[in-house]
Amino acid sequence: MTTDLDAIHRYDQLTARVYGERRLPTCTRDLILALGWVTLRDPKRHHPDVPVWDRTREVLNLDNRQMWETIAEDVPRYEHDWHAGPSGCQAPMVRVDRLCGRSTTIGFAEFDPATGWMRDWGFCSRPRCREYARPILERAEHSKDRAPEPIPNAGGRLPLFFAWNWESRYRKAMRVIRHRTEWEPPSYGLSADEWPAVPGQDKPQAFPKLRLVAVSGEFVGRDAPVLAGSRHT
Ligand SMILES: [Zn+2]
Repeated sequence: MTTDLDAIHRYDQLTARVYGERRLPTCTRDLILALGWVTLRDPKRHHPDVPVWDRTREVLNLDNRQMWETIAEDVPRYEHDWHAGPSGCQAPMVRVDRLCGRSTTIGFAEFDPATGWMRDWGFCSRPRCREYARPILERAEHSKDRAPEPIPNAGGRLPLFFAWNWESRYRKAMRVIRHRTEWEPPSYGLSADEWPAVPGQDKPQAFPKLRLVAVSGEFVGRDAPVLAGSRHT
């Protein structure tokens, strides 16, 4: 059994960690905090006939569809940022330290051989820029076949904190909210701390996962760090 003092301590650590996560969408953060409350602190947590899902929905004042929308928001996936790339020609200027920048007449995508991520290229019609683009175009041509499955860069925050049947929940959320049945879990794992590090991206650290089926809120740890200062049960 988890004592009340343990539960308070764990709830505090969970909350502190959640507030320390900089890139949590608001709805995901609210859901994590509510799941923590319902499992660790809620006076109704020992009622065997109050399922975690129903009680969390009640605490957050959400209807069932809004709950599934929140889950859909956290589906682990790779998202390409269509607005991130430069808008003009990407060939460098001669003698000036900047890109050409003229409006592009050809555009294509290249897939990174390490991350599987997509990069947009665009070039104008000037012969020198076309000349610069040619080897890049050749390199890009078969890059999709050689690239690995893209490393996810979005979602995967709920499994950082809780052990649950996330895969079937994500699948259902994709089906009922996004009307997409083809989603498959990333081979890298569902939890964002399991994904390979990508330079320039902050990778969330592991946190002891709380098992949500247990009313007493026990932590399960697959390589998860032990909570500092928590007493063991
Ligand atoms: Zn150009």
